[in-house]
Amino acid sequence: MHHLDYLPNYLYNIPPRKYQAFTLYNFKTIPQIHKLTQEQIFAIQVVGSVLPFKTNNYVVEHLIDWENIPEDPIFTLNFPQKGMLKQNHFNRMADLIRSQADAAQIRKTAHEIRMELNPNPDGQLERNRPILNGKQLKGMQHKYRETVLFFPSQGQTCHAYCTFCFRWSQFLGIDELRFAMREADVLQQYLSKHTEVTDILFTGGDPLIMKTNIMATYLNAIINGDLPHIQNIRIGTKALSYWPYRFLSDPDADTLMAAFRNIIRSDRHLAIMAHFNHPREMQNNIVQRAIHRLRQIGVEIRCQSPLLAHINDRPEIWAQLWKDEVRLGCIPYYMFVARDTGAQHYFGVPLYQAWQIFRKAYQKVSGLARTVRGPVMSSDPGKIQILGVGQVRNQNILTLRFLQARNPDWVDRPFFAKVTKNALWLNDLKPAFGKKEFFFQSSP
Ligand SMILES: *Cc1c(COP(=O)(O)O)cnc(C)c1O
Ligand code: SF4
Repeated sequence: MHHLDYLPNYLYNIPPRKYQAFTLYNFKTIPQIHKLTQEQIFAIQVVGSVLPFKTNNYVVEHLIDWENIPEDPIFTLNFPQKGMLKQNHFNRMADLIRSQADAAQIRKTAHEIRMELNPNPDGQLERNRPILNGKQLKGMQHKYRETVLFFPSQGQTCHAYCTFCFRWSQFLGIDELRFAMREADVLQQYLSKHTEVTDILFTGGDPLIMKTNIMATYLNAIINGDLPHIQNIRIGTKALSYWPYRFLSDPDADTLMAAFRNIIRSDRHLAIMAHFNHPREMQNNIVQRAIHRLRQIGVEIRCQSPLLAHINDRPEIWAQLWKDEVRLGCIPYYMFVARDTGAQHYFGVPLYQAWQIFRKAYQKVSGLARTVRGPVMSSDPGKIQILGVGQVRNQNILTLRFLQARNPDWVDRPFFAKVTKNALWLNDLKPAFGKKEFFFQSSP
């Protein structure tokens, strides 16, 4: 691990780097492509026709270990793998591509397969849309009393796509400042009517894909909007991991830092909710400089990731991740359970095992890293933490609790489920002690 002591400002001025994306259409131009077999390249074409695929020159040069293919966790994080499609889906698409079917046929089949992959788990967005002046607001979600999620329309793509993510349906991207101003206005109006809200969380995609002038339109709407109850501004982003130049050498990196400083000067807490899935993502001096620069101006960095088979499903990896985070001044926040969508059959880890991995990792770190909470299912009723298995009268019982809930009264009440070793998600669990339903299923 590179260690950074004090970094004077000029050291943030690393040479600018031009962003280059690699997708299904040009990934064969990656210089390291010869490290892959023909079979692996074909699998990328097949799976990449169904699931989103995008990586970039930073990931290829600084994160992936090309001597470690195909097991490399970051390779798996960005490059489609054969196992991500079920056998029958894979074969269907493979046959089409082998027979050189036309693009329309491939698109149609890809769509049919996607529809079988539960593309919109829980109908999350639709269900928690806020209402302003009698109209449902798009691009916002208000599920937990204190926190409004905001999806700026220009932030619905990412610097690279994680293979486990299935937000492809929202990866559309529209680049228009006028649109941002209208949205910022609606956001400001909504927040001014909801004084119970303390936190606004910018999310996506990745909001930091946006240029600073657009991002600043939103941030200024909050700073200048007479909204003293909005105390915390969070930005959910994977830019530290996929494009740390965003904070260092991009043409508008310095103005982004200035916009962040303005938030902090308005006496607000600014948190980057960073997504680090594997310690590798923190182990080079570009990302470390970016973290250092954010920390120096007073930005808090909190880190979260799902637990993923083939990427980070060992306790040693999580312990290392949390230790590295703490050493770099970041705060471990959530370990999530992989959602019931997309390639869950490939990435999913059963809840029981997830708890074991969490527990073993948690035991290896000091209290400073035990700010992390997990494993957590972000499900329709709320964020549910698996507390673990204990024995009650010779019976094994799984204990859970809400960290966040649609109904605030549910939070922090332990509840109990039968131990089902292969359960992957909440809907695989049954209440313990012969109960018909969990307590929250009968309350409003
Ligand atoms: C996770 C989440 C939040 C933020 O919850 P915190 O526990 O405050 O981090 C807000 N809204 C939704 C819908 C979420 O899933
Ligand atoms: S950065 Fe986040 S939103 Fe983007 S692909 Fe990865 S998990 Fe999905």
